[in-house]
Amino acid sequence: MNFDSLGLRAELLRAVQAQGYETATPIQAKSIPVVLEGRDVMASAQTGTGKTAAFALPTLHRLAESTRPRGPVRALVLTPTRELAAQVHDNVRDYGRDLKLSSAVVFGGVNINPQIDKLKRGVDVLIATPGRLIDLMQRRSIDLGRLEVLILDEADRMLDMGFLPAIQRILKALPKQRQTLLFSATFSREITQLAQQFLQDPVRIETAPPNSTVEAIAQKAIPVDQAKKRELLSWMIGSNDWRQVLVFTRTKHGANRLAKQLESDGVSAAAIHGNKSQGARTRALGEFKSGRIRALVATDIAARGLDIEQLPHVVNYDIPEVPEDYVHRIGRTGRAGRDGLAVSLVCGAEHGKFEAVRKLVKVEIPTETIEGYTPTEPLNHSTKSPRGGGGGGGRGRGRGQGGPSGNRNARGRGAPRSANGGGRANSSRRNDGKRSGGRNGNRNGNRNAA
Ligand code: AMP
Repeated sequence: MNFDSLGLRAELLRAVQAQGYETATPIQAKSIPVVLEGRDVMASAQTGTGKTAAFALPTLHRLAESTRPRGPVRALVLTPTRELAAQVHDNVRDYGRDLKLSSAVVFGGVNINPQIDKLKRGVDVLIATPGRLIDLMQRRSIDLGRLEVLILDEADRMLDMGFLPAIQRILKALPKQRQTLLFSATFSREITQLAQQFLQDPVRIETAPPNSTVEAIAQKAIPVDQAKKRELLSWMIGSNDWRQVLVFTRTKHGANRLAKQLESDGVSAAAIHGNKSQGARTRALGEFKSGRIRALVATDIAARGLDIEQLPHVVNYDIPEVPEDYVHRIGRTGRAGRDGLAVSLVCGAEHGKFEAVRKLVKVEIPTETIEGYTPTEPLNHSTKSPRGGGGGGGRGRGRGQGGPSGNRNARGRGAPRSANGGGRANSSRRNDGKRSGGRNGNRNGNRNAA
């Protein structure tokens, strides 16, 4: 749908055009008219669907329509992470560039005083993480008594991160007469309860069926023993010449360790997770975006909301505990129509967890075995308790529909450009095989759609 027909002010249409947006995404087409009417909204939308503009454009429109003088906060966006807060703020600034509205972002991990000063000068739109906002409320540095619009962005993730008490506390401090917009990738029972408690007769908006993955993304699963994952990853990055790959691990410790190991394999890498300072996170993200580092190793929570344009590769080094996280992870590839590749390295113990992912995404994820990495660990079919048997990597019954896109970028060099520098023990035989097989090893490797 064209933006012109949505009823937005000319300043906003100009800004949208300057962003290069040609048509409204489904979530925008459905949300913008309803938000403009002043209704409460409960929308299911994942990162990458254009949800920020879906709430920001009509909110800016409504604020611009009334001529209240600058003063206490008029619209508040709550986000789970600092990175997402900063991105939403960037978008609000871009969209509102021709409007006389002020905005600010506040989050923890940085000095609070400049944030207090900014609030004193008057802010129309405030983007905040819940913890820092509570801090500001306790210091009486913020006046939310005249708030007109509240937006809960990625509400499911805020609850996953334990922000429910903070959110309830914030909500109770807000005027009852307001518009509330709740955006969430999934609608759990807790989210629905939150909506029942704090939204008034919300319009429910759903776009793509929840938990479906974007078709433009090629997905594949590679069975491999846990102990071989790191070596396989270094080899894949090197032999396919992947320049920008986002790697997910389950734990912060795992992220640190893997980033160090990749570095020792000659793949420039950095870890990003909640224990890193804001400065370190921003630096790592900047280096990744500029191409100075090839691999960014992240935990789910730290990576949430990262907006990295043209990210072609996502690797699930660990299969997520919660299958929905798979959808969030791979949602970062294939944005705005670009296609991407999401590879999951599945060890025997993760077999059951990955089967849960397969059930959730409802898209066939082909399995590809890589020569030299056929697993030997038994498969655990359950998502909970291990059950032996099965063995191996599911060879046989190839249906010829593997994920050939894995080698789109390969230049056929075979050997990793910089990986393997560490000369690890145990790897020479396998490396020899891989090097000579190289790309063909991938291409002709036995694939079967599991
Ligand atoms: P979001 O889901 O808000 O994180 O947006 C994901 C990406 O899509 C951002 O880079 C936006 O700039 C971009 N985007 C948002 N709306 C549109 C649109 N209508 N057309 C093209 N790109 C868009």
